[in-house]
Amino acid sequence: MKNLIILGAGTAGTMMANHLRPKLKKSEWGITVVDQYKTHYYQPGFLFLPFDIYSEEQVKKIGRKFIPKGVKYVQKKIEQIFPEENRVQLEDETLDYDLLIIATGSKIAPEEVEGMKAENWLKNIFDFYTFEGALALRNKLREWEGGRMLVHLTEMPIKCPVAPLEFAFLADSYFKEKGIRDKVQITYVTPLSGAFTKETCSTALGYLLKEKNIGLEIDFAIESVDNENNLIIDYGGRKIPFDLLVTVPTNMGDEVIARSGLGDDLNFVPTDPHTLQSKHHENIFVIGDATDVPASKAGSVAHFEAETLTDNILLYIQNKPLKPEFDGHANCFIETGNNKALLIDFNYKQEPVAGTFPIPGLGPLKLLKESVLNHWGKLAFRWIYWNMLLKGRPIPLVSRNMSTKGKKI
Ligand SMILES: Cc1cc2nc3c(=O)[nH]c(=O)nc-3n(C[C@H](O)[C@H](O)[C@H](O)COP(=O)(O)OP(=O)(O)OC[C@H]3O[C@@H](n4cnc5c(N)ncnc54)[C@H](O)[C@@H]3O)c2cc1C
Repeated sequence: MKNLIILGAGTAGTMMANHLRPKLKKSEWGITVVDQYKTHYYQPGFLFLPFDIYSEEQVKKIGRKFIPKGVKYVQKKIEQIFPEENRVQLEDETLDYDLLIIATGSKIAPEEVEGMKAENWLKNIFDFYTFEGALALRNKLREWEGGRMLVHLTEMPIKCPVAPLEFAFLADSYFKEKGIRDKVQITYVTPLSGAFTKETCSTALGYLLKEKNIGLEIDFAIESVDNENNLIIDYGGRKIPFDLLVTVPTNMGDEVIARSGLGDDLNFVPTDPHTLQSKHHENIFVIGDATDVPASKAGSVAHFEAETLTDNILLYIQNKPLKPEFDGHANCFIETGNNKALLIDFNYKQEPVAGTFPIPGLGPLKLLKESVLNHWGKLAFRWIYWNMLLKGRPIPLVSRNMSTKGKKI
């Protein structure tokens, strides 16, 4: 009997367990999934929690429920991976593997910036990338009467790169609805030289910032937070004052990757961008936010990767050449406030462009254009996530590789 171990039961790890169990003979392969937590969070919902659009219950479920029968679920912390010995050390036991899938994701590291996680953390400095952060921010916003709000991005890469911009747009709508928009000054602060990483999007999104009277501070490489005077300070000495700082801190892979000597500076695992095999160990594969591939860190990317990775795991087991098939495909709804959203579809080579999705020429969703239908698409995604995506069920009309049909290239 051989052992396949999946490290992490988040979006990617859970999908891989569901894809692989029916395809690997139970008499030949045991599958074990390891995760430290009982709860599986729907992270895209953290964007909506602070604005009371989603409740706590809508974004969390028991993780084990999504692990298929015939897969062992071990709820323990992973201490170290020993790739030369094909062994994983958990808090109080050791697991041997023949094949390993690393799906340990990424998480925020506010301690990387001096003064960020200090006396004002969760008082007037918040993140919304964790359940606890989003919830604390919701409670703060419920009672906040206005002032200077900074929506801040520390550095790239981050998961869901559009989320901080979406937060700024939703904040504009939220304060309008509360009747206090005139009392809130919203500024978007980024280390990039535009509103977003992709040029076509940056233009469209920069325009929306203007339209919504949201200030934009670019090229701001943060060095520290001054908790006494409520300032963020960059390496050039530029200072921006705030009453409420909503920040997306540095995103990093888990410390287990560093402890195991498997990661880069940010603890992301060097991974072949097309086959998803580790660059250094042939019986290790990596998926989702844990990789260093130059695709977006997004659930949609993990979903497309999972299909290629399933094929490649089966090919690897049969000693056949892997398919270099993953093209960096990402598909993201961008909430723009007022019950509207944009949709973008792109890959390693192709920037987001206008067009229709998923049916060429028909849509019904429009790319790179604000619409109410896109907003409903984003909200419907929560149902798709819990009921189809995590369970590895195919989503009709959405293919793993990006199609150029229906796009104005
Ligand atoms: C605010 C926000 C909005 C987002 N919006 C979108 C969106 O609109 N669309 C989209 O596609 N994506 C979105 N995302 C991104 C998406 O949620 C992630 O890209 C996706 O969850 C990545 O899946 P993953 O399996 O790689 O990592 P995760 O889902 O984070 O799972 C990693 C798992 O590994 C476990 N783990 C890590 N280290 C250890 C250890 N040492 N021991 C034991 N267990 C460990 C963790 O407990 C966790 O369960 C958003 C994310 C955030 C934060």
